[in-house]
Amino acid sequence: MLAAPRARSRIESEMKYCTQCLLPDSKPYITFDAQGVCAACRVHERKNRAEEGIDWPARARDFDALIEKVRARRAPLYDALVPVSGGKDSISQVHRLLGRGLRILAVNVDYGVKTDVGRRNLECIPRMGANLLVYTPAWPLHRQLIRLGFEEYGDPDLLSHTMLHAFPLRLAVNLRIPLLLHGENAAFEYSGEGGTSAGQTLTRAWFEKYAANAGNTPKVVAEKHGIPYSELIAYDYPDEFEKSDTLAVFCSHYYHWDSETNLAIAQRYGFETLSGPAEGTYRNYVGIDERVIHRVHQYFKVLKFGYGRATDHACEDIRNGRITREAAKALVREHDLVDISEDLIAAFIAHLDIPRRRFDEVLDRYRNPSIWRRTAAGRWEIPGHLQD
Ligand SMILES: [Zn+2]
Repeated sequence: MLAAPRARSRIESEMKYCTQCLLPDSKPYITFDAQGVCAACRVHERKNRAEEGIDWPARARDFDALIEKVRARRAPLYDALVPVSGGKDSISQVHRLLGRGLRILAVNVDYGVKTDVGRRNLECIPRMGANLLVYTPAWPLHRQLIRLGFEEYGDPDLLSHTMLHAFPLRLAVNLRIPLLLHGENAAFEYSGEGGTSAGQTLTRAWFEKYAANAGNTPKVVAEKHGIPYSELIAYDYPDEFEKSDTLAVFCSHYYHWDSETNLAIAQRYGFETLSGPAEGTYRNYVGIDERVIHRVHQYFKVLKFGYGRATDHACEDIRNGRITREAAKALVREHDLVDISEDLIAAFIAHLDIPRRRFDEVLDRYRNPSIWRRTAAGRWEIPGHLQD
């Protein structure tokens, strides 16, 4: 186990930011061009450009054609499976499948920390006309895995996240469901990876890089920590998937993926937002279904890479012309680096049954010494934060 980097100070260079949005160069997998513009901004230019950009009407026709093929398969039980959290995005995915004569199975993985408003939002799914299956992994193992992710990887959602992707794939193969509709391709949307025609399907390579954290797949975790792999099967990408007749595609390949668009769609079906912004950002419609583990997960990004959820949201809003870069900076300054509130910490340590001291030790250990510096007054700061 690594020692806490508290006493060290080795800021090699200050963070550099994209000249169009506010993504820092510390974000994993991000690249910048000669103009200092990040690949995610360049991808969004193609998404939003009328001329020589992505032809969205053609993509929508491709989706229509895909649905025709799916229906012609005459699947035994369901035609399409949608993994759902009950958030705005998953409701928009179900919406894209409605009115097409499909039998839809929505699958929610609930690991026991869902909020009341999250439960109400999930009820939108069967109300819309999709069948809903809620799967709850056994708590003792799942809590052990959250704790392992928290302590050993600085990512309490490490295996929850692989399960959210893998379990629906496994179910789709075994129930012989021809289509699985995922939400956004994070590689394309947020890191600018993949060209206009790439990023259509969920492959094993994508899973290992983006669903698992940097290649820490369930198999790797099982071997490293002495957990029988048979217990983690439901968390891992199924070997039989790529040989199966099920196609897993990203909704963001076929429809212009945008949070505000998805929110507007979800609200038509009764989706409820929060009364104020979620902690760590300025939006009131994110992180609703599960606040506690999600918040700690997001805060690790702040510690490791020096930016958080407000940056993600501000970057999307800049790219879609909703706010200026200067206005975005003000929002990020206000929200991005705020400490996790005491009530969320209390809920987190109670869930994992760990002492507060242990929580603080783990967070300290993941504070990146090449990004953060301790001031003479004993406070942590990021030199060059949001400076061009
Ligand atoms: Zn950018």
